[in-house]
Amino acid sequence: MTGNKQSGYKHIFGPVPSRRLGVSLGVDLMLQKTCTLDCVYCECGKTTHLTLNKKQYVPVDEIKKELSRFLANGPKLDHITFSGSGEPTLHSGIGEIISFVKSGYPQYKIALLTNGSLLYQPEVTESILDVDIAIVSLDAVSETIFNKINRPHPKLEASRIVEGLISFRERFVNQYWIELFIVPGINDGGNEMKKIQKTLRLINPDKVQLNTLDRPGTENWVVPAQSNMLAEAKKLFNNTSIVKHVEAGPNTDGAKSGYDHLIFSTLMRRPCTVNDVSRILGICQEDVFRLLEDLVKKGRIGKKKMQRGIFYRIIN
Ligand code: SF4
Repeated sequence: MTGNKQSGYKHIFGPVPSRRLGVSLGVDLMLQKTCTLDCVYCECGKTTHLTLNKKQYVPVDEIKKELSRFLANGPKLDHITFSGSGEPTLHSGIGEIISFVKSGYPQYKIALLTNGSLLYQPEVTESILDVDIAIVSLDAVSETIFNKINRPHPKLEASRIVEGLISFRERFVNQYWIELFIVPGINDGGNEMKKIQKTLRLINPDKVQLNTLDRPGTENWVVPAQSNMLAEAKKLFNNTSIVKHVEAGPNTDGAKSGYDHLIFSTLMRRPCTVNDVSRILGICQEDVFRLLEDLVKKGRIGKKKMQRGIFYRIIN
């Protein structure tokens, strides 16, 4: 079964191939685009609802129902991953949904992608302790650089977030990975990198992953870091790797029609190449290309050339 090929899923997507998490079923707890930050590199587009307010953005029961339906036949997955259109720890029911998966489907590992901005709040930490992998972002420790890259909610401060990341390590016994997104010209300078290096020693994560722009970000001026820059940064930290993005393999499915809405909902979550969409939806690349170009002509989506190819995206 291939995720979004089945109709009626609003909150789960994929499974998508990921080099670090294998075959991963995405669970999106948030509404487009609700976050505590408005990162310049965000692939989900500009944050339209910048908030610290925790609530059930999407009803917990709807998510549970979709998960039950999708997982009923025991699909082969490496992870169920909480990520998507915003910051998942803003959802007040995240702990309940994690417990639901852990108790009902213990064969699956859970990964959480979070910006870490709320981990200074004990109740948030408590709610996510059962995930198997927490991938937490940390792009800056200086307030000025944090403000430039992550454009936080006015009540957030980098220093407080860092304290939260350090105290999370004291309670969280599973895999704790820090993801550092390099924005050339902003956080790649020696000073900031040294400060991040010092902070990472205090956090003591199991892994550090360096990432850079791969898909169109929110701001056009953000460019990818060159590979030598990433290699230099890698030397600064322990247990560090560079996130490599998966190129989708060829797909030989025959022609299908009626996928416009699925393509559209896939692009709502992130810009994609023809290969990405082909792999996610299980449609051959020729058909995906035709459908995407048709949506471009209708003015529903746009496209942008990047290092990895042409990315199609929702026009904001
Ligand atoms: S990258 Fe993550 S943390 Fe930053 S704005 Fe996008 S969803 Fe929020």
